[in-house]
Amino acid sequence: MKRTGNRIDRRSFLQLAAATSGLALWGCGPRKKEAGPTGGPGMRYRALGKTGLKVSELTFGAHGVDNAPLMRAAIDAGVTTFFTSGEYLDGREEASLGRAIRAIGIRRNDLVIVTGITMRPGMPKQRILDSIDRSLGRLGTDHIDVYGTFEVCTPSDVRDEAWFDAVEEAKRAGKVGHMALSGHCGGMQACLNAAIEDERFEVLLFKYDFVSYPDQAEILRRAAERGIGAIVFKVNAGNRAQEIKDLEAGGLSFRQATVKWALGNPDVSSVAVTITNFDRIKELTAAVGVKLSQSEADMLRRYRDEMVGQYCRFCRTCEGRCPHGVAVADVMRYAMYFKYYGREKEAMRRYRALPAGRSASACARCAGPCDAGCPFGRRTRDGLVDAHRLLDFAPV
Ligand code: SF4
Ligand code: SF4
Repeated sequence: MKRTGNRIDRRSFLQLAAATSGLALWGCGPRKKEAGPTGGPGMRYRALGKTGLKVSELTFGAHGVDNAPLMRAAIDAGVTTFFTSGEYLDGREEASLGRAIRAIGIRRNDLVIVTGITMRPGMPKQRILDSIDRSLGRLGTDHIDVYGTFEVCTPSDVRDEAWFDAVEEAKRAGKVGHMALSGHCGGMQACLNAAIEDERFEVLLFKYDFVSYPDQAEILRRAAERGIGAIVFKVNAGNRAQEIKDLEAGGLSFRQATVKWALGNPDVSSVAVTITNFDRIKELTAAVGVKLSQSEADMLRRYRDEMVGQYCRFCRTCEGRCPHGVAVADVMRYAMYFKYYGREKEAMRRYRALPAGRSASACARCAGPCDAGCPFGRRTRDGLVDAHRLLDFAPV
């Protein structure tokens, strides 16, 4: 958001207006639903583009969770789609999902498993094939339904021929069903557009919320027209409801409203949500198949109005202003995991793994030229000082 004093520029205003009308329209819009393969109590299912797969409207985002009973409870609630990664918890998360599948005795073909790998520059084809084999072993299955290149940030990440060669070979061998791309960087629109134009990706997985980037709705529409499925995540726009007094007054649930909002777009196949406890399964499955109410739309508008200048989109625009090379977007994201997602250990581990000099240790002694570089008006320096205090546990 470009601001001049209390004013915002015309482009930002139009984007905000589009987001507002989206909230209203999707609250009343048509809902595309299909009968599911296993039929949990209130679960609904949608086609995942032209893949031939049906996914539960709620996808279990297993990120950071190593809890087979919890995964089993989600399956009992009708969740058939699981989004994990060979790299989360060094593969323990995939192994946990494999145990849950065996324990519950569900037929493998009644589940849709999405996993993948973060590509590093120059990663050879054989390493990708080896990663696929390791994932198959941990999951205890002979095939992965959707395999993705994760943490994509620039269009050049989309065009890695070693990736395409490896996944096509795995598809011919029957080890992988469909190819996906996933990311949550600020420049994700360019990556998504490049992936749609490329025509080899069959599924897109990306951050999608009611505060940022209303142009993503148009990208979703074009992807749907070409038969590309979309599983969206981080729909809660930073998950900072606790910071707004009485936001959920009257028994409203911010989490439920964000899921309803995303599912209100018929071009979304499923919403992936990180599920960390049994109550969350109950709360979120209750949001499936229910339209966003006027009160919920009003709640989301209020959240957007109060958070629009405080919420980091991980766009990296401000990083060019930093003389110290701080990885602003990554630090902000880890702070979000720590403060608002209850994933403190993981956030600290990721922070410690940043390359030397990329942490926010220098911010407390800096005047903060990055503040002027945020198009959303975020007070970047203050956020980074706070993030370092949280993630490093060191006085600043
Ligand atoms: S506060 Fe200073 S050191 Fe920290 S990111 Fe901003 S410009 Fe860089
Ligand atoms: S602080 Fe602003 S410019 Fe920097 S990454 Fe976040 S949203 Fe982008």
